[in-house]
Amino acid sequence: MTGTDVARRRILLAAPRGYCAGVARAVTVVEKALELYGAPVYVRHEIVHNKYVVQMLERKGAVFVEEADQVPEGATVVFSAHGVAPSVRQEAADRQLHAIDATCPLVTKVHKEAVRFAHDGYDILLIGHEGHEEVTGTSGEAPDHITVIDGPGDAARVQVHDTDKVAWLSQTTLSVDETMATVAALEQRFPNLVSPPSDDICYATQNRQAAVKRIGADADLVLVVGSANSSNSVRLVEVAREAGARDARLIDHAHEIDEAWLAEVRTVGLTSGASAPDILVDEVLDWLAHRGYREVEVVRTAEEHQYFALPRNLAPRPTPPHRRQGGC
Ligand code: SF4
Repeated sequence: MTGTDVARRRILLAAPRGYCAGVARAVTVVEKALELYGAPVYVRHEIVHNKYVVQMLERKGAVFVEEADQVPEGATVVFSAHGVAPSVRQEAADRQLHAIDATCPLVTKVHKEAVRFAHDGYDILLIGHEGHEEVTGTSGEAPDHITVIDGPGDAARVQVHDTDKVAWLSQTTLSVDETMATVAALEQRFPNLVSPPSDDICYATQNRQAAVKRIGADADLVLVVGSANSSNSVRLVEVAREAGARDARLIDHAHEIDEAWLAEVRTVGLTSGASAPDILVDEVLDWLAHRGYREVEVVRTAEEHQYFALPRNLAPRPTPPHRRQGGC
């Protein structure tokens, strides 16, 4: 299989990795909703971008839909961690859906920044990936004020109403380094560019990138457990390569690993995106152990203690008056 001596094979396991507080909360919201209201519970879009999680929740009774109009009137719908535009909330209200919002509070923070900048008359340049759910949701807060900037090319071309009244915001799951490069390009064009009051790229994205940077520098191959539509997972692959890893791959499951990737590989770096549960990392560790990679060194670059409370309206629904027993 590999040309490396088994005794020298090792794994550098990044920490932090995997579930962030926003993903843990969103998954719990769906599980709790199923417990409280019974199946089916409708979920608009993938609750988090991970195939395993989506399939696990489907088995429990979650039904994933693209739009609120696919949800029967009066049913329970959960909005995903990526956030929704106000028009989606309105549509759910019009259809009398019992809407539970699993939007990550750190995405909500960006929505609020967008509303405030728009209210103050700014052109808002939203750095992010066109078409990503989070970007669509944030843009919907102030569609007349927001322009999506998908890389330095867009930064060079974008037109604004007043070059002295421009602010930037970003998607929460971008590469920190690439985003700063785009901001620098925007600052060249708009010297009075206003920054968000605090980082939009969330703590989890930043911490996972810092950890993969550390292991990427020492690894021949970095494996990132995560799904292809998970922005933060895809960024981890890019960051690992930039940090010096000879190769970096994104996998949903251990069985997707190609033995050929291990040729001449002494050190495997391993991490996972913010939406990937640790059970999938454990499977990869087992898979690698069977191939001689038994020495595991945890490389920790940060501690995380973030926790987000569940939405307030995730509670038993009151029984309609005509179904109540007794009374007068
Ligand atoms: Fe929230 Fe960041 Fe996790 Fe997205 S990656 S759900 S913004 S904590």
